[in-house]
Amino acid sequence: MSLLGILLLVILLAASAVLWWQHGQLKLLRTRHAKELAAQRTQREAELAAQAERTAALFDRMVEGIIVVGPNGRIRIANRAAGTLFDFPPPASERTVLEATRHHEVAALVARLEREPEVLNHELRLESLAETRYLQVNALALRATDGTRDGAILVFHDLTRLRQLEAVRQEFVANVSHELRTPLSLIKSAAETLIDGGKNDPAVTARFLEIIDKHASRLTLLIDDLLLLARLDSGRIELHLQAVSLRAAAQEALDDAALIARARQVTLENRVAVDAVANADPERLRQVLANLIDNGIKYGREGGHLVVGGRGLDRARVELTVRDDGPGIPAEAKARVFERFYRVDKARSREQGGTGLGLAIVKNVVQAHGGDVRVESTTGAGTEFFITLPAAKA
Ligand code: ADP
Repeated sequence: MSLLGILLLVILLAASAVLWWQHGQLKLLRTRHAKELAAQRTQREAELAAQAERTAALFDRMVEGIIVVGPNGRIRIANRAAGTLFDFPPPASERTVLEATRHHEVAALVARLEREPEVLNHELRLESLAETRYLQVNALALRATDGTRDGAILVFHDLTRLRQLEAVRQEFVANVSHELRTPLSLIKSAAETLIDGGKNDPAVTARFLEIIDKHASRLTLLIDDLLLLARLDSGRIELHLQAVSLRAAAQEALDDAALIARARQVTLENRVAVDAVANADPERLRQVLANLIDNGIKYGREGGHLVVGGRGLDRARVELTVRDDGPGIPAEAKARVFERFYRVDKARSREQGGTGLGLAIVKNVVQAHGGDVRVESTTGAGTEFFITLPAAKA
């Protein structure tokens, strides 16, 4: 081979070596680039997944039920609250609103959004064997950035508790009106009798003035109790907490009740332990004891026996009990006696001058102290009220 041939061969070899090296480098670069892209994609996917998880966690923490529907009418997101409200297990995605909620009104609302640009408000009643729930639904059609329709979002607010409170309030107002009207009409007719000539007869005058006085006092008592309950409800009552000897407080309340006990020949007994000391407001505690002792005498047995007991339960709590040996409270009424205006025997309570608010006040005062109240009763054998209160610090 000539020198030129050898030279050409060397150049050729060198050139192909360079080419081969460049090809290798290019391949390396491509692989590296592909790897970088894959890593970026994985990171982006992880970020998106984390973001979706954060959104889902955020939705799940909301008390409102949320359902997001895609343009195909299938659920994209449904949070935990929505699942609880409509009793569907997660995940609800890919089911239609009707399949998940089994409620035609919700499906109809989603369909209406096709034509309505505004937020739609609708009230829903969910009936089940156990209860009736009331929901407020706000529904809005969603749009993509280019303005095309992109499904809808439904927000469900549970109004059940609000409705229940409203019903309680209405019943309370009706009860108050009734309780006020009874003594007022008696006062009015007594006054009319006096005006219509009754005042000319001293005996009639004395009898009707007595009626007026009795029912005016009843009204005062009722209004005092109502105002106290309103203050307890709104937390506007200030408790002047101090160490109170339960035995001394019980004795004071028993002494106050001595007159009415004598009238019904009821014997009173103080069995409170000397070392039982509560951290309580003495004035409010007096009110609680007065109500329970008064009830024990009024609804207990004529010629019966009433005992106030008390002891330390543990380092943090003391207990007070008021027991009578009267006819007792029927089992079905036990849970209700702490309700406002609930009476087992309406006529008997009114005749005794009761407002029907005594035990509601007891419960509220005790709870304001952080304590508890319950009742045990056996028909024919008597009733015992149990109160726990915080113990005074040793
Ligand atoms: P009232 O003003 O009617 O006494 P309360 O709230 O104090 O209202 O009591 C509610 C009802 O609980 C009473 O009307 C009565 O029927 C019943 N009750 C309360 N205490 C006793 C008791 N010691 N024995 C039997 N029934 C009772």
